[in-house]
Amino acid sequence: MYDPKSKCADNFINHEEIMDTLAFAERNKGNEALIREILEKASLRKGLTHREASVLLACELPGLNEEIYALAEQIKKDFYGNRIVMFAPLYLSNYCINGCVYCPYHQKNSHIARKKLTQEEIRREVTALQDMGHKRLAIEAGEDPKNNPIEYILESIRTIYSIKHKNGSIRRVNVNIAATTVENYRKLKEAGIGTYILFQETYHKESYEKLHPTGPKHDYNYHTEAMDRAMEGGIDDVGLGVLFGLELYRYEFAGLLMHAEHLEAAFGVGPHTISVPRIKHADDIDPGVFDNGISDDIFAKIIACIRVAVPYTGMIISTRESKECREKVIRYGISQISGASRTSVGGYCEPEPEDARSEQFDVSDNRTLDEVVRWLMDMDYIPSFCTACYREGRTGDRFMSLCKQQQILNCCHPNALMTLQEYLEDYASPETKAVGEALIRKEIPNVPREKTREILVRNLENIRNGQRDFRF
Ligand code: SAM
Repeated sequence: MYDPKSKCADNFINHEEIMDTLAFAERNKGNEALIREILEKASLRKGLTHREASVLLACELPGLNEEIYALAEQIKKDFYGNRIVMFAPLYLSNYCINGCVYCPYHQKNSHIARKKLTQEEIRREVTALQDMGHKRLAIEAGEDPKNNPIEYILESIRTIYSIKHKNGSIRRVNVNIAATTVENYRKLKEAGIGTYILFQETYHKESYEKLHPTGPKHDYNYHTEAMDRAMEGGIDDVGLGVLFGLELYRYEFAGLLMHAEHLEAAFGVGPHTISVPRIKHADDIDPGVFDNGISDDIFAKIIACIRVAVPYTGMIISTRESKECREKVIRYGISQISGASRTSVGGYCEPEPEDARSEQFDVSDNRTLDEVVRWLMDMDYIPSFCTACYREGRTGDRFMSLCKQQQILNCCHPNALMTLQEYLEDYASPETKAVGEALIRKEIPNVPREKTREILVRNLENIRNGQRDFRF
């Protein structure tokens, strides 16, 4: 039975409830009165249930679809302004004992080069990322208790935080590793991680078990209940995600929102972020196997519907998506993107030799960070390297309340401008710097509180004079 408060995955991601939701959405996809009512509710910016949001996703009335996009865009502006937070993934190890049929790390893949970074190699990779201007990383690893035990992950996090760079250290390490125990989540929390990210891959239990035929990841309930254990272990920023293309997208969408509802019901705080990766071509994966791929238009609609359903939750897209696709969807609700990513182990220091590749999937956006920063600014977005909330202890419900009170413009907005100023001073090409300076000048008046504006102007000047790391 569907029960968002239940601790059991079969109840909070309840298959019958999803099937019923999909049938309800299908019956109402042309029901103008109901869709208008749901849009009305969404415009209050308090979110929607999975059932209501599923009706919007199914909506086939062109005029109303336009309204959904417009509302998503407006909600993004209200809660997140025009900031886009930047991060980069860091692949620590591709050793893996799972059998995920869509992932080239799967244990039986004998032609991928297996690699695990030593602490010295991590130092070099992180320095390369710092040399580009990154301040926020997401570490990634396959699941392999022998090669990548929790002690290795913890040591790697300590190494990353300890690396001194002339322009400042990495300020936030998010972690994307396999589902683990409460005790290990507690250790990750103690190591000072930002968000714990785990993609569900698919919420469809039967498909999940087929797609993960062997290894610890086969256990659907253990995987799906991971965020509960993470929160029990004290991690209050968790990031959900679905790998779109594995199963029917409407099913995944309803499951994803039910997962968010569950965290809210059981812990009083929803997910910090939702990622929307799409399946990509990868080594040893037959591209014909996945016939649930979603078009760019459906992808945009999913993003818009997530935005109106969970207005306070950050949304992430990676370099799995091309420049053109990112350009199209950012406005509907994306708040974080990766830039200049390498998905191979050790890829920031050394390009992969063609005959010994270790990457996870093909990257569609190969631009440098400077190019991505400039491109965002050309579209009037503020690339932000901010990590202030986490460092000020504004995690979990404390961050959510900042967002709910729409205080982002008095807090995140000036922080974004200050970290952008740092980037311009330390890394930007002359063209990017000129565009950035103009953008910052234009954005200062958008900080509502006068006192904050004054401090901001002073801090920007201090940054130009060599000082660093100011934050609200
Ligand atoms: N090993 C960890 C786990 O099992 O959750 C997480 C790390 S894995 C490097 C990160 C994510 O990459 C996976 O959760 C999966 O969604 C995604 N991924 C795997 N194969 C992919 C592919 N062919 N295309 C796009 N994304 C893929």
